Amino acid sequence: MELLNTGVKNVKNVSRFTVGPDSTSTLAVRISEIKDVDGGPAIVCLDQFLYDNKILIDQLELDKSDVIFRIDTAHEPKTHVIDELMARARSFLRSNPSVVVGIGGGIAMDTAKAISNLYTNKGSAADYQGWDLLKEPAVYKIGVPTISGTGAEATRTCVMTNESTGLKLGMNSDYTVFDELFLDPNLTKTVPRSQYFYSGMDAYIHCVESLAGSYRNAVGDAYSQQTLSLCREVFLGEEDMMSDDNRERLMVASYLGGCAVATSYVGLIHPFSAGLSVVLGLHHCVANCIVMNVMEGFYQDAVSEFQEMLIRQKIHLPRDVCKGLSDEDHEALFDATLVHARPLVNALGATYEEVLTREKVREIFSRM
Ligand code: ZN
Repeated sequence: MELLNTGVKNVKNVSRFTVGPDSTSTLAVRISEIKDVDGGPAIVCLDQFLYDNKILIDQLELDKSDVIFRIDTAHEPKTHVIDELMARARSFLRSNPSVVVGIGGGIAMDTAKAISNLYTNKGSAADYQGWDLLKEPAVYKIGVPTISGTGAEATRTCVMTNESTGLKLGMNSDYTVFDELFLDPNLTKTVPRSQYFYSGMDAYIHCVESLAGSYRNAVGDAYSQQTLSLCREVFLGEEDMMSDDNRERLMVASYLGGCAVATSYVGLIHPFSAGLSVVLGLHHCVANCIVMNVMEGFYQDAVSEFQEMLIRQKIHLPRDVCKGLSDEDHEALFDATLVHARPLVNALGATYEEVLTREKVREIFSRM
């Protein structure tokens, strides 16, 4: 296959990070250093699962001028929810924040990214859905992932859905990239095993898709190869996948996988997975795994390896998720998959519609 330039030339990465068990013990110091320089308060976007975690909240050493938002993670971020949070922040805080911290999974981190962007760029969240629409640098933002795999900590976007237009598109911008990360594997200790597996596979799948695609970036390829090798150690090694060392490996894999995909594109699995999310409401990471399991016609070696990981980790994927769907449901699945042109071109070339006919797409979904 001819290799194509991704067009991502001048890559912005996270500027600073602290990695290792208990690295969040220095988070409070960083927050107060930034507040001292800038004079403004802190906004913390906290995953709902951590909202009652008094130890973690005490560790942040916030004061009365700061605000904590409990981020509902049942649904992916909506533009109107971001706007509501902005209105609450503006009514609560007397001055602009000097730092916005996102602690949690992809949803909490993406919400923090959006809020930090909107504090310096006037208007509503929907105004910035697209590429490079933000005009001003954002408020300093810190990311603290508490589950590994999605790579949200590394990317230049924050996923958001506009319910009135149906548009699912983030604020793709260099200003969306976190200024600083705390990668603390202690925070992933209590993640349920199946969730840990599905999320971790997101990093694996990002890199399988990138390396098999025709749009490539030399640095992205190196990130991808290292991510895959870390995932193999975690999910196929002798140690428990959630041992201290493996949780640290997977946290690094998630970050590197995010860096990889930021320079490249995903392939076939993410578009089909998006179909499952849009039509059936399945969450991103489990949907990816359901799709991966039936992709042997496209990613033969990776599918075999993935199935070996499933067996080794005793994970039981949801079965028959498309059983009994109507013709209309299948039409909706087809549309929600084929709309992702760039990844599909990356995977199959410009003539992807010749491969992904209605019949073929229906046959693939029917096996999930
Ligand atoms: Zn993904």
